[in-house]
Amino acid sequence: MNPADSLQEKLDAGKIVIIDGGTGTEISRRGVTLETGRSWSANANIAFPDLVRDIHRDYILAGAELITTNTFSTSRDILQREGLSEQTDHINKQSVTLAMDARKRYAAEATITVAGSIGAANTGTPEIIHSDALANYREQVQILAEAGVELIILEMFTRTADLKAAIEAATETGLSIWIGLSCIDHNGQLELGIRGYPQGESIADAVMVSSSPHVKAFCIMHSPPNVTSAALQELSSSTSLPIGAYAHGSVTGSRLVGQPLDGTDPQTYLEYAREWIACGATIVGGCCGTTPEHIQVLTASDVRG
Ligand SMILES: [Zn+2]
Repeated sequence: MNPADSLQEKLDAGKIVIIDGGTGTEISRRGVTLETGRSWSANANIAFPDLVRDIHRDYILAGAELITTNTFSTSRDILQREGLSEQTDHINKQSVTLAMDARKRYAAEATITVAGSIGAANTGTPEIIHSDALANYREQVQILAEAGVELIILEMFTRTADLKAAIEAATETGLSIWIGLSCIDHNGQLELGIRGYPQGESIADAVMVSSSPHVKAFCIMHSPPNVTSAALQELSSSTSLPIGAYAHGSVTGSRLVGQPLDGTDPQTYLEYAREWIACGATIVGGCCGTTPEHIQVLTASDVRG
């Protein structure tokens, strides 16, 4: 059975699934200085392939059941800002190969899902975004699908205009889609957005535009741990699909140094994870600043029952 189908069976049965943690910040923590622009971790796939493969390996060894390709920032639109657009095909294919190789080394092809990450473009105004963004998402998602990913994760989406375009592109692959929404507390109000960039739309708005039958789960991700529980409560009242959480473990400044936030060491992160599970989350992992140790603490705990 395809590992993504096994994962889906677990979710359908209400079981807890633990996924990987941060990749970009982990590359940085292991000593590689990342680009400061939007393509920050893209170049690592070709410049430091062993390092990226090792990070996937360490998440597998920590017990993650899903690993995510290092492709959050490798769409053509983002790569061209760093003069790398001609390598769009190569960088994306390579990232899938690195995740597949890590899995193969542990003969885990049947049990570990390789998910292809697509990051939100967040460019243009909602009125003019659709055609450009669609072409961009479509190219990247097709490369990832052809290279063999078993699931698509749309990450850090904060605008329904982007989300609609990305879902349309991802649906064309025929693969299952998980949606990662980022949320913030903006003047006491829960909104889609990231720190400093509230977008004025709600989680319910995002769920409403995600009607593709290929959409199989919604996650609150790249959001502060203390906002994530409230976001999950809103999410659970907006959808009957499985929901999940993978929060920040750190502040992500322009240099992505992965400095831990107070209170998000692995043990404290586990306590947050318990809270998220109590809010209905059945998918749990980590985003920026979380490490294989965070995932190891989750898998060694009793959260999976
Ligand atoms: Zn993140």
